[in-house]
Amino acid sequence: MVRFEIISQGEELVSGTTSDTNATFMCAAFKERGFTPGRITVVGDELAGIRDALAEAVRRVPVVVCTGGLGPTSDDLTTEAAGLAFGLAIAEHPVALAQVKARYASRNRPMPPANQKQAILPAGATLLENHWGTAPGYRLDVSGTVVYFLPGVPSEMRRMFDTYVLPDLALRYTLPPRRTIVFRCVGLPESEAAQRMDGVERPGVTVGYRASLPEIHVKLHLDDGVDAAPVVAETRARLGEFVFTVDGGSLAEVVGKRLAARGETVATAESCTAGRIAADLTTIAGASAWFIGGAVVYANSEKMRQCGVSTVMLAEDGAVSEAVARALAEGIRTRSGASWGIAATGIAGPDGGTKEKPVGTVHIAVAGGSGTWHRRLQLPFDRARNLQMTTALALDLLRRQLD
Ligand code: ATP
Ligand code: MG
Repeated sequence: MVRFEIISQGEELVSGTTSDTNATFMCAAFKERGFTPGRITVVGDELAGIRDALAEAVRRVPVVVCTGGLGPTSDDLTTEAAGLAFGLAIAEHPVALAQVKARYASRNRPMPPANQKQAILPAGATLLENHWGTAPGYRLDVSGTVVYFLPGVPSEMRRMFDTYVLPDLALRYTLPPRRTIVFRCVGLPESEAAQRMDGVERPGVTVGYRASLPEIHVKLHLDDGVDAAPVVAETRARLGEFVFTVDGGSLAEVVGKRLAARGETVATAESCTAGRIAADLTTIAGASAWFIGGAVVYANSEKMRQCGVSTVMLAEDGAVSEAVARALAEGIRTRSGASWGIAATGIAGPDGGTKEKPVGTVHIAVAGGSGTWHRRLQLPFDRARNLQMTTALALDLLRRQLD
């Protein structure tokens, strides 16, 4: 088990203007390679704070990455802080200076005097040339811990991490790779997913969850040497029909691929979602091969005109009803000549609910050659998320017929 820590430096990170995406990126890369996460420390532009964060991290773990604060301005304090933390003198590094100058020369510009500061490194640092920006990075070996210093600009940080940090760590550590298998589910609450997965964890197998509405992802992390097949089969069986893909793409992509494989097409009739189902389907390249078109049928007059829903049905059952959802799906299917019709009608909120049909009441339907399928939903979210969920569950109703 090799633990790592990350120090993210920058006033913008502690003042709430910038999210620490550098740490997210590195944590994912570390995890994939079998390193164990320790802490992420976020520090503003404060010399003592950065100094302490560095000094404490090297006491705890053998691998530290610090990003940010290598710039030319007076609030860029990382190098000074590293000198203080590790008792190292800091001085101008001639090769670093040449690199910074060369970078300006290549753009036919003189180096501003302030940038000379970027060539100041702690004694004993190994220079990491920055081909993607001006601030050079460097590496320090401090009493058994390797500390990498990278620029804060995310594009530069990522390239330097891939180019220098990962290869250097590969020389230092051989860790058994872990494999991650992602089961993407829709319509399954996270708590129920966890309940269904209870008991799957065993030596070498851990289970993780990520809710990203409208989906929930169940992740299997397998140590090297663990036979994946039985665990995958067991997970599939436990999560059942809620899984729409294993390690695959979005719901729309899954639906599109299956339609294409079957040589079938789909059309949409949308009341409450007003085109979101169509929009989702058409995020997939090549959608025109299987997506015929869609009607946005908000007013009753449009439900009648575009999908042939009867006046009587609208009057007796109401626009938000099973009967109308079925009629919309069947109507758009017949009128467009598509193999499948998808429809949604509902009350997204926050207003418009009644005692019988409270906010969040949604009817979705899918019509095909051999029948029509319907679901009544009672969604608990705000308007935006109710619409997002309706879109996903309507697509999923079709996906289930294509399985
Ligand atoms: P450098 O050392 O290259 O000068 P720096 O962090 O000192 O980097 P800043 O100007 O503070 O320079 O940051 C450069 C840009 O990178 C800013 O837009 C900043 O918000 C962003 N940034 C810095 N650190 C992070 C981070 N951890 N996650 C995401 N963005 C970051
Ligand atoms: Mg900064």
